[in-house]
Amino acid sequence: MSEVGRLGTGQMREALIDTDAITANVRHLKRVTGTEVLSVVKADGYGHGAVRTARAALAGGADRLGVADIGEAVALRRAGIDAPVVAWLHAPGTSFAEAASLGIELGISSVAQLRQAEAAASASQPVRVHLKLETGLGRNGIPPEDYGVVFAEAARLERIGKLRVVGVFSHLSNTSEADDRAALAVFEEGVAAAQALGVRPRLRHLAASHAAIALPEARFDCVRIGIAMYGLSPFDDRTSAELGLRPAMTLRAAVAAVRRVPAGHGVSYGYLHRTGAETTLALIPLGYADGVPRNASSGAAVRIGGQAFPVAGRIAMDQFVVDVGDLPVAVGDEAVLFGDPLLGVPPVEAWARAADTINYEIVTRIGPRVPRREAER
Ligand SMILES: *Cc1c(COP(=O)(O)O)cnc(C)c1O
Repeated sequence: MSEVGRLGTGQMREALIDTDAITANVRHLKRVTGTEVLSVVKADGYGHGAVRTARAALAGGADRLGVADIGEAVALRRAGIDAPVVAWLHAPGTSFAEAASLGIELGISSVAQLRQAEAAASASQPVRVHLKLETGLGRNGIPPEDYGVVFAEAARLERIGKLRVVGVFSHLSNTSEADDRAALAVFEEGVAAAQALGVRPRLRHLAASHAAIALPEARFDCVRIGIAMYGLSPFDDRTSAELGLRPAMTLRAAVAAVRRVPAGHGVSYGYLHRTGAETTLALIPLGYADGVPRNASSGAAVRIGGQAFPVAGRIAMDQFVVDVGDLPVAVGDEAVLFGDPLLGVPPVEAWARAADTINYEIVTRIGPRVPRREAER
């Protein structure tokens, strides 16, 4: 296990990223699924840093990377990452020329996008695409009534060398096993229709983290792994450790001030908390500008010196307060908001629960003012 180490001198806050954990998580998930792995590094690698996550995932055996926007894929190329990467969410009428020239694969959700891909093909280089099927989620993707037209056209463009259909894919709702199985059946019909019309994609991919773990029939040739690669559970009722995963992000700060106050002292905006007795208040320099949710003001806790202290009063833009009683907490002491619970710190899910959201949202929203630092190896 990597050493967590201390915050640097003069450093106020940081998100420590354990890239070894990401590598180990990918390796573990590849073993569990027995398929190719597409590692999803959109949204700056769910807040962990897209480039470092991509490198760590590839080191763990990821076969391909995935992002939402073409701009995210271009940034990976500019950072020197030449592994296969697919982008699947496009602005209307956007040009695919730059993406095509960089060998970026494109998710295609409509006939219009197929036309844009055709326009981006060069004489020497077909555009590599993954056809996205709508199978029930109600977002983008080719609807079943258009499968025939789109597959026939994709097959034609492939024959004349404009296109290479690398994959056919869809995305599940995780509503229930029955709903996911219904979508899976639509997906299989779509794949069969594609094959009947002459499209023979090497990769059929449907499952994200949830189904990759819980629904083996949805694994096909490749699984798209996001949250689980970061060591977090896609399930409400199963922890990271139960899934054999190690959370990669630790969010922590140095206590910025301590103050001894009498009983009845108000704390933070609106005095939602008043001290019950003489006590010490410690100021933590992280706030909602940094992605610490304001509506986690009651229910969340931080760990300082081996002990957990609940948030006292409102979380503000830049800071919040914890009531540490009579314990000898001092300026500069390390306060950990979340990390790997096996190391004795709160899990990110405690913050997600307090804010009535999911682990995905907490890590993804950690703001730009929080430096990311890679854990020492
Ligand atoms: C974000 C995303 C994923 C990753 O989902 P996780 O639940 O984080 O594994 C997979 N596929 C698509 C299409 C996505 O948009």
